Amino acid sequence: MYNAIVIGGGVAGLFVAQHIRKNVLVLEKNNSLGQKLLVSGSGQCNFTHNGYIKEFFNKYGDKQNFVKKCLNAFSNQDSIRFFNDNGINSIITENGKVFPKSLNSEDILNILIKLNRLNTLKTNIDIKKVTFLDDIFCIVDNNNNQYFSKNLVIATGGITYPKLGASSFGYVIAKQFGHTIIEPRPALTNIISKQRAITTLAGISFKQLKIEIYRNNNKVLDCIGDLIITHKGLSGPVILDNSRNIKPNDTLNINFLPKFNYESLHDKLVNDFHKFGSLKLLSYLKMFDLPKSLLEHFCEQLNISKNFCCAQIIKSHRKELCKLLTMYPIEVDNLGGLNIAMVTHGGVCTKEIYSSTFESKIQKNLYFIGEVLDIDGNTGGYNIQFAFSSAFSSGRKIIENSIHC
Ligand SMILES: Cc1cc2nc3c(=O)[nH]c(=O)nc-3n(C[C@H](O)[C@H](O)[C@H](O)COP(=O)(O)OP(=O)(O)OC[C@H]3O[C@@H](n4cnc5c(N)ncnc54)[C@H](O)[C@@H]3O)c2cc1C
Repeated sequence: MYNAIVIGGGVAGLFVAQHIRKNVLVLEKNNSLGQKLLVSGSGQCNFTHNGYIKEFFNKYGDKQNFVKKCLNAFSNQDSIRFFNDNGINSIITENGKVFPKSLNSEDILNILIKLNRLNTLKTNIDIKKVTFLDDIFCIVDNNNNQYFSKNLVIATGGITYPKLGASSFGYVIAKQFGHTIIEPRPALTNIISKQRAITTLAGISFKQLKIEIYRNNNKVLDCIGDLIITHKGLSGPVILDNSRNIKPNDTLNINFLPKFNYESLHDKLVNDFHKFGSLKLLSYLKMFDLPKSLLEHFCEQLNISKNFCCAQIIKSHRKELCKLLTMYPIEVDNLGGLNIAMVTHGGVCTKEIYSSTFESKIQKNLYFIGEVLDIDGNTGGYNIQFAFSSAFSSGRKIIENSIHC
């Protein structure tokens, strides 16, 4: 009989198991552990973010209140200290992302595996059945091996990136015990735009643009951040972080000049075109520090020669130019699918989980941690940090239970 059985040998599963320390069985369906961890941060593992922990809370969409307790219990600084104490120094990038100094995710995974030396880690396990009888969970695998434990932790992750082992098994178990599943969909993903024209600018990136998101002509969100144009549409932190709120057929109005709105830019252009009438339009627009190819793209969209002088720009073109610069519309055809999205939005409903222990409110001694829950964070290390923090809180409760037994 194990103290705890953990289903899923990824970030959260390995972390909770090492925290409980001994007599834990981790069951992983892949032939190796932590495959998503290995590819995280392009193989460098951006495992948390620097800064005050209270600055983390609003990085999890509408789940700020739910994540607070566990992030306070095991914070970003605790993660940095934890790895430091185990021989892994970290580095912090200019934008606050924290990586192991080696920039090698294997170092993080190897430490988590090493710290599980008193536990049993089994890979290639296909679980057939989970039952609960007389306060004991029984797990049956495909070879009819049976494993027993008082505590069961579900750490099966989200459903994106199936090639790395993602499965909906955690949702199946959750439903079996009466939990609600919030419809899972891709998050931290790019946008495929209906317009092809913008994709000719693939590769161009912008810093701190403003984007307004409209659904059925109603504004649903304002966001600011870095943007990259791709060969299919848009990506970059501002898109990835807000993809949980974007749906097909939404319109994104991009403001390439966030210091201006349509009206203030229009006023400026009226004055400036008058003042600099003989200046070529492209030379004038250069002062806004935008890529030349984007400005040429605007000329193409307006169907005007790029050799026009400012004085040659008629009123309707000036207005259109202001629109393109401050409200460039991109219609969303679709979002990058489950195969490429970094995380899952949706999953086990947090209303049925205690936020201090991650224990089910429906079934005693059953825990859900990490991405299997309806929690997804922004890019920048927030998802792995949540996996650690939720694992820590559940592990602490399981340790307390075993002391009181
Ligand atoms: C390409 C990519 C890059 C990323 N980069 C970052 C980053 O830099 N920073 C960051 O914070 N986040 C990043 N993420 C997100 C982050 O990796 C996840 O949020 C995190 O791994 C979630 O941890 P988890 O333990 O909940 O799930 P996982 O790490 O996905 O672990 C779940 C485990 O459960 C196993 N499993 C599933 N079903 C079963 C079953 N039926 N039986 C047994 N085992 C099962 C899976 O095989 C897997 O090993 C990235 C994600 C991707 C895809």
